[in-house]
Amino acid sequence: MKTILITAGPTKEYIDPVRFISNDSSGRMGYLLAKEAKKLGARVILISGPVNIKTPKGVRVVKVVSAKQMFEQVKKYYSKSDVFISCAAVSDYRVKKFSKNKIKKTGKPINLKLIPNPDILYEISRIRPTPPAERGGHPSSVISHVVIGFALETGNLIKNASKKLTRKKLDMIIANRVDVMNSNRTTGAIITKNYIKEFENIPKKILARKILGSIRTI
Ligand code: C5P
Repeated sequence: MKTILITAGPTKEYIDPVRFISNDSSGRMGYLLAKEAKKLGARVILISGPVNIKTPKGVRVVKVVSAKQMFEQVKKYYSKSDVFISCAAVSDYRVKKFSKNKIKKTGKPINLKLIPNPDILYEISRIRPTPPAERGGHPSSVISHVVIGFALETGNLIKNASKKLTRKKLDMIIANRVDVMNSNRTTGAIITKNYIKEFENIPKKILARKILGSIRTI
């Protein structure tokens, strides 16, 4: 039985006890991937940011809030998994200094110093063993340590996503238009170094099945 590790949802980076930096990710895509992977008989570990979705049956869900917490959990489970699908919309930045007290309104501008969060996908991809595509040999190469990412783009969808495929040393990247956030349907492309398969206005559940179905052909 294969183990699939999936990240989903946004992360929240708290500025003070009540304010935070985050994004509009609903977590739907990651949860659908988890549900469909489970149906296919995989063992599924879902590292989830704060979302409003019920835990899929039989899926082990680990709840996190911040990018740093998500990274810790991914590092913990990564070596026990065969496939890593990074679907989360991780906040790229967090505040340098969290304020323990609620920041007071003064009527004057304030500055927040933001520092970069770890790029979880990049870091994991860097430490994994040789990807199947580079191992050569048998065409139906064993699927282990496959790494898949997502790219949400406002323009030049395929070009930008392809760059990320190379830079983050991924086996596959799913390019999505930014307007798919928080929607049940999606438009974009599945990209590997061998092919680009575009899809238009399909339910995210169908995309989840397509992604899982293509893992065997990577
Ligand atoms: O570079 P960009 O943020 O567009 O890359 C998106 C991909 O990288 C997604 O798969 C996302 O889950 C992952 N990512 C990550 N950690 C970050 C930022 C993005 O794992 N800090």
